[in-house]
Amino acid sequence: MFFAVDVSSARDFVLVIDPGHGGHDPGAVGAISKEKDINLRVALAFGQLVEKNCPDVKVVYTRNRDVFIPLARRAEIANNAKADLFISVHTNAVDGNKTVKGASTWTLGLARTGANLEVAKRENSVILYEDDYKQKYAGFNPYSSESYIIFELIQDQYMEQSVSLASIIQKQFKSYAGRIDRGVHQAGFLVLKASAMPSVLVELGFISTPAEEKYLNTKQGTQELSTSIYKAFLEYKKEWELKNNQGSGNASDKVSKDKSKKLPAENADTDEAKSKSGKTEVKVSEKSESPVFMVQILTSSKKLPSGSSQFKGQKDVEYYFEKGLYKYYCCKSADYNYVYKKRRELATKFKGAFIIAFKNGKRVDVNDAIDEYKKTKR
Ligand SMILES: [Zn+2]
Repeated sequence: MFFAVDVSSARDFVLVIDPGHGGHDPGAVGAISKEKDINLRVALAFGQLVEKNCPDVKVVYTRNRDVFIPLARRAEIANNAKADLFISVHTNAVDGNKTVKGASTWTLGLARTGANLEVAKRENSVILYEDDYKQKYAGFNPYSSESYIIFELIQDQYMEQSVSLASIIQKQFKSYAGRIDRGVHQAGFLVLKASAMPSVLVELGFISTPAEEKYLNTKQGTQELSTSIYKAFLEYKKEWELKNNQGSGNASDKVSKDKSKKLPAENADTDEAKSKSGKTEVKVSEKSESPVFMVQILTSSKKLPSGSSQFKGQKDVEYYFEKGLYKYYCCKSADYNYVYKKRRELATKFKGAFIIAFKNGKRVDVNDAIDEYKKTKR
């Protein structure tokens, strides 16, 4: 028997991490190091923090080793993965200044000043490493200011979210890593233009400034910078979940078989009373010994009245309470294939609807539940 297992259903959020440059493209070159290596170290450390602590996030790297990836390919990876967020990691450099310091975060837009344009020119010039760049990038000349006119008419629907993340990253660079805050800027980055999701480009610091290059090549530097981006990511994702009325909870939730919480009493009122303690609670009792699947459709910080317009006419809506949020689900069934089909239907109404599983009254890892379901069906 064939079971269509939609792995993505177990992952609420897709994060694409893009370590800039690589392979025969070193990026900016300092006295003791190359940009591509700094970017990769920080990007991997950031990704590992997410992988370790956010089981509901799928992390995709455009590269995880020292290899050349064309710029257009990086955006394509993000678009194909249907990423919710794209974070490109770079290191800055400037000619003729060995003292300038600090981290900055960039979003897509038209550079208003020459200095901003210079950063975009430098980062976009990587396309010159690609033989067919003239065709591939429609005659775009990274060094010609005129080429940047294509960024003038951009209607970036993700601008607000991108800028919001960029600001949080800067806040963390300053407060957690103690870096000089060079602010949030806009410029015409090809890699951001081609990615269809909120996206930012981080410049960790200046490889051209000896003191900063040294820091960028220490363990402490890697740890502080990657953790700053990670903390900002958590903050961004929390906001995103509230806005999208979805998510399996707070980004720092560690939902696993062992750590999943008990679903207690059948009495909804008792549950309500307990809900202030922050424990997971449900209105229904799910005590089945085999996994029960359902489609989570939205999350709310307030309890919604039954028949709320937010349910969009969906009838069989129930909820559980976790980490201060009411999480609404429907289409409960022991038949995974049924729930799988339902999720696909519901995804048009509830963007990001995803499958969750309970067993013996506890929320369990959905992939484990699917495995168990498949075994018992064999
Ligand atoms: Zn770069």
